[in-house]
Amino acid sequence: MGGDLYALDFDGILCDSCGESSLSALKAAKIRWSSLFDQVNLSTEEWIIDQMHILRPVVETGYENLLLVRLLLEIQIPSIRKSSVADGLSIQAILENWLQLKPVIMKEWNEERDALIDLFGKVRDEWIRNDFSGWIGANRFYPGVADALRFSSSEVYIVTTKQSRFAEALLRELAGVNIPSERIYGLGTGPKVEVLKQLQSMSQHDGLKLHFVEDRLATLKNVIKDPALDQWNLYLGRWGYNTEKEREEAGSIPRIRLLDLTDFSEKLK
Ligand SMILES: [Mg+2]
Repeated sequence: MGGDLYALDFDGILCDSCGESSLSALKAAKIRWSSLFDQVNLSTEEWIIDQMHILRPVVETGYENLLLVRLLLEIQIPSIRKSSVADGLSIQAILENWLQLKPVIMKEWNEERDALIDLFGKVRDEWIRNDFSGWIGANRFYPGVADALRFSSSEVYIVTTKQSRFAEALLRELAGVNIPSERIYGLGTGPKVEVLKQLQSMSQHDGLKLHFVEDRLATLKNVIKDPALDQWNLYLGRWGYNTEKEREEAGSIPRIRLLDLTDFSEKLK
């Protein structure tokens, strides 16, 4: 008995996919709302991509990138505004209020989560089909992570809001790591708290020490709220998509340990 089980988030812990997800979202937004892009030039597109990097910490699931693209467009071009929130909205205000803004804009734009998820997946599939190396190259694994995964003696699971097929392709092609698909819990396998419950209840995991590494503070707080998940050791990866304010808050929560990238790679090995 003994040993460790690691449940690892994917984007912002293993893989820096922000460049790819921002570009995919821009492609998807152009399909979904093509008429809004009539007045959009290259420099506006570059501005949008730059802001997307700053806003990445608010994104829980990929389709939200599409919403951010449109919201940024509405901020930049008053004549296309259809939401009530874009007027005078700052990047900082989006960072702080995304959870409140999201349902408002979705309603005002008459958009649904599932349709946007579907479109986002299709755009990625098409990019992969047409330009596989370009798509792979828009992502990068954080330094040391690929080796740590390859040589890990722990039980490793991926728990992500990404669609599994994309995480699996990146692990294989970019990191050179083969993680069996049954160890990748992607979008559609339920909320992360439910996946963690599933993992801890499997008999082959009896006696293992449980670790969950994540870069989104809100997700760790959801775990803390659930007494059934009391056995999990929780870590916030400093290198991922979180803000200084969130790292500070995490530092004040006894249950959460702040983790640096080098310590993470060491632990995993
Ligand atoms: Mg993440």
